[in-house]
Amino acid sequence: MGDPAVKIFDTTLRDGEQSPGATMTLDEKLQVADLLVRLNVDIIEAGFPAASPGDFSAVRDIARRVKGSAVAALARAQISDIDIAWDAIREAEHPVLHVFLATSDIHLQHKLHLSREEALQRIHSSVTHAHSLCPTVEFSAEDATRSDCEYLSRVFACAIRAGASTINVPDTVGYTYPTEYEALFVYLRKHVPGIENVTLSAHCHDDLGMATANTLAAIHGGARQVEVTINGIGERAGNTALEEIAMVLRTRPELFGNLDTHINTEELLTASQLVSSLTGIQVQPNKAIVGMNAFAHEAGIHQDGVLKNRMTYEIMTPQSVGWNATNLVLGKHSGRHGLDARLRELGYRLDAEQLKSAYSRFIALADQKKHISDADLNYIIESGKETPAAI
Ligand SMILES: [Zn+2]
Repeated sequence: MGDPAVKIFDTTLRDGEQSPGATMTLDEKLQVADLLVRLNVDIIEAGFPAASPGDFSAVRDIARRVKGSAVAALARAQISDIDIAWDAIREAEHPVLHVFLATSDIHLQHKLHLSREEALQRIHSSVTHAHSLCPTVEFSAEDATRSDCEYLSRVFACAIRAGASTINVPDTVGYTYPTEYEALFVYLRKHVPGIENVTLSAHCHDDLGMATANTLAAIHGGARQVEVTINGIGERAGNTALEEIAMVLRTRPELFGNLDTHINTEELLTASQLVSSLTGIQVQPNKAIVGMNAFAHEAGIHQDGVLKNRMTYEIMTPQSVGWNATNLVLGKHSGRHGLDARLRELGYRLDAEQLKSAYSRFIALADQKKHISDADLNYIIESGKETPAAI
């Protein structure tokens, strides 16, 4: 595994749980936390304790239970929120206080009714307070990608002086573009005093379908922490998907100077299925890495290639992310090789003539049915035996 690593900050239990309809019970949140530990994420953002008493007790229980991964709690940049968040995570093995304040003019004027100078003062006092309680403080500038760059530099310099050791640059509204986001990280590294001593973090949303690409661009720009969720669930169009980042870095290390994550990728499918069943948010079949069809091959030419050498059409093994094996889906696009392979798995050994006849019955059936099951195949073979070749 490459070193140094990109830290995985999982926010399935906070930003992910903010997906419409994704609310989880305490017991369900604990199940997800256990799985995140098995996945070996670096930081689990467990919730927003000031939001509700239920959120508070979930974060506290997760903080008490989790060993190995750090546990973060979100707080607005105000003393009361920070005190509640600290109360919830103080028993964690590695607590992280995550303080945020919006920094774009549109948020400052219309949402917070704060001047830029007032916002700076608030960041200074809240981060100072958080740091007096907790050694590890992350500061997020909400809507960073729509904030004035020069002002954003002052914001981050102020947060670092006040004790923040992680600086997050969120694309809260899913607005940025890979080269633009990378350039923002490069700009900040050049202009913010003390930035070389802190971890830079990327947090992206998928409103324009660019969350994964933007997050990867941020790594090129110097981010060494990424904020992600299982299956990419999250506000609106969701967050960057953990499984996609983990597998891009694992599959194309040469593009990232051999940076890797600590993720146990073999657990990715289990994590995806657990989060999907607990939240009721289904994974689309064509979802990268964890979708039902991510390793399914139906086209005959593809099946033939995969049977000869899986590298022909697979850039990573299904097993590396937790699937049992390549899934050859039998349908009307399948070829004779695919049919023969499945029949062999079912215990049938056909000679060329038998296979030819079975294949024509298979194609006739596949014209009527989308997917051909093993039961259908048994029927095709057995019925073929009773009706000797009527060619
Ligand atoms: Zn977010």
